[in-house]
Amino acid sequence: MSHTRFNALQAIENRMDLLPGEFAETGNANIASYFGENVFGDEAMKKFLPEGAYLSVKAAVHSGEKLNRELADVVAAGMKEWAQEKNCTHFAHWFQPLTGKTAEKHDSFFTMTHDGRVIEEFTGGALVQQEPDGSSFPSGGMRSTFEARGYTVWDPSSPAFIMEVGDGKTLCIPTIFVTYDGCAQDFKLPLLRSHAFLDKAAVPVCRLFNPDVNKVTATLGWEQEYFVIDEALYNARPDLVLSGRTLLGRPASKHQQLEDHYFGSIPERVYLLMRDLETESHKLGIPVRTRHNEVAPCQYEVAPIFEEINVAVDHNQLLMDVMERVARRHKLRVLFHEKPFAGINGSGKHNNWSMSTNTGVNLLSPGDTPSRNLRFLTFFVNTIMAVYKYADVLRASIAHAGNDHRLGANEAPPAIISVFIGEAMTKLLGQIANGKKTDDAAVKRAIDLISKLPNLELDNTDRNRTSPFAFTGNKFEIRAVGSSQNCAGPMTVMNTMMALQLLDFKTDVDKLMSKGTEKEEAILMVLKNYIRKLKPILFEGNNYSDEWKAEAARRGLSNHANTPEALAVLGTKHAEDFYGKAGVLSKTELEALLNVQLHAYCTKLDIEAKTLADLVHATIMPTVMRYQTELANSIGALKAIGMEDAAGFQKNTLRAIAQHIAVVQDGMEKMQHALDAAHHVTDLQEEAGMLCEAVKPQMERIREAVDELEGIVDDQYWPLVKYREMLFVR
Ligand code: ADP
Ligand code: MG
Repeated sequence: MSHTRFNALQAIENRMDLLPGEFAETGNANIASYFGENVFGDEAMKKFLPEGAYLSVKAAVHSGEKLNRELADVVAAGMKEWAQEKNCTHFAHWFQPLTGKTAEKHDSFFTMTHDGRVIEEFTGGALVQQEPDGSSFPSGGMRSTFEARGYTVWDPSSPAFIMEVGDGKTLCIPTIFVTYDGCAQDFKLPLLRSHAFLDKAAVPVCRLFNPDVNKVTATLGWEQEYFVIDEALYNARPDLVLSGRTLLGRPASKHQQLEDHYFGSIPERVYLLMRDLETESHKLGIPVRTRHNEVAPCQYEVAPIFEEINVAVDHNQLLMDVMERVARRHKLRVLFHEKPFAGINGSGKHNNWSMSTNTGVNLLSPGDTPSRNLRFLTFFVNTIMAVYKYADVLRASIAHAGNDHRLGANEAPPAIISVFIGEAMTKLLGQIANGKKTDDAAVKRAIDLISKLPNLELDNTDRNRTSPFAFTGNKFEIRAVGSSQNCAGPMTVMNTMMALQLLDFKTDVDKLMSKGTEKEEAILMVLKNYIRKLKPILFEGNNYSDEWKAEAARRGLSNHANTPEALAVLGTKHAEDFYGKAGVLSKTELEALLNVQLHAYCTKLDIEAKTLADLVHATIMPTVMRYQTELANSIGALKAIGMEDAAGFQKNTLRAIAQHIAVVQDGMEKMQHALDAAHHVTDLQEEAGMLCEAVKPQMERIREAVDELEGIVDDQYWPLVKYREMLFVR
């Protein structure tokens, strides 16, 4: 008889007794008094660096130039002093390999001199570059093991911070991760390249409106969704532990249909977790601001105030890490998987993206002066044009096994990328596109139209939650990103496609101006031309509907329904040109990225299939057979006393069990067969396709049958923690 499940439930009962006093509230009401205290940010730099060094670091970050060795020594000394004052014993290069998680290798400050003296040391050399053993990180074939060296290189544009784990404190230095010949092996280097490229392309366009602009940065505000369940329940589900999602489980009769969880009051244990988490985040300078319940039971969201894109990406990665650690303190687990539970909503990570200038202007914010409005229109239309041209590359950047369960299910944006802009902007673009002339009067009319726009930022009535890419007043919101993903992937594509598009735009405007067209008129003419072309990507209707699928196909929009299909785009000339022209990924780097992603997909599916097979074979089937025997015995016992007539229920149940077992058995055989076949092919793309097309459907068949069994087998025997227990027992 299974006790794991009941032991887990008992463990929670016992926890209830401990609440609410167990977790002392950390932090205090005055967030400003400790915000960023664990960050080597502006304040700490001013205090611990000589003024000259401080100014040089700031200048280098602004220009993106390298710091020289001498300066690095000075910075390292200051950092070490600051960190030691805060009781750090170790330092670590912190990086973001293509696994999607963060990685760190700790070294102690303490070292020994050649004559045996013990000293504490942190040199500029150690700050700038380290050589972790790169051989265990995915490289997509860029490194063979004999030249496995990978280097982490300091990224001064993201501030160093102190990671506290228990009593241990480590100075963490954000770095990029490259091969010995400088190829990107992480998410950060491509992001930084794309950001620099965007700056280069956007500044000349800004200068059409304001000659004082000399820097454009991308901004990102992410919204992180996650589930929280009790640790004991988590540990009693091998599928959650091994694959991050439940591979089996009959939906509870109550799930989210009452819609009573969204924005509902937060359960006390989770509330305490959130408080604790916010304090930790604030100490690390992560500006988290909002918290609320999400649609599904046990689902929540946390979002910060937006930041410069590079720092925002680091903060999201750091936050996910902190969340996992803090949750353990509370005997809870956070689940970042896109679809931990079937039948209820999965989790995404909306990426709110915009651009801003050194003059303090949000380029996607309409304003109240005429020139500001033409500038807004320029960046607005070019963003949509960029998506229109490169939607498939964007789709590829959010493709992975977990996200497949979300995209296209009726809860998350579909796999088809389209853009939602709202009624007011749709009308405005229509008026501009249909205007016959583009002369002075037309420019005035267009500008006039924009200034008559209702306040878009405040206009929340007009939101389309089904759109994967929506304009929300002063930014675009990319909603198809998965909750477990590193934002850097899709954000690299956003920056890159926008930059490529802005280069085209500038060329088009220059061409007209060289022929004598006035500047504003030229801008409007080019925009008008774009608006006419980009129409197919605009969609205001219900993205979940089947009609949209058909309509999108008619419009020629790509619809890559699963990861292997979506990733295949990375192997095309289109993607090679996209990344290559921008200097964001070389051909080798792109090939490596594709390989790493395909490999990750295959591995994840393989783990899922094997976990499912083990569970069914060793945990589910023995339970079912025990119940089967019991039913048979019951029939036998009734028969012995001449009451076989009374065994109808038992017989029917036995028949149903037999039918489901037959499906399970057949599914298991076919799944194994398909797995073997997939493992036999050497081409990763082909293997991924086979896992997706042949293995996954069998997994689903098996699940369906087992979930039926769960509904009829004696509850006392059932070995796995049930959905109703995971989602509603707190
Ligand atoms: P919601 O989308 O739920 O209505 P908000 O509009 O308040 O929420 O913002 C969502 C996220 O968008 C927040 O993280 C916010 O900081 C971010 N955001 C707001 N303005 C910008 C901007 N200009 N660039 C990037 N992100 C932004
Ligand atoms: Mg939002």
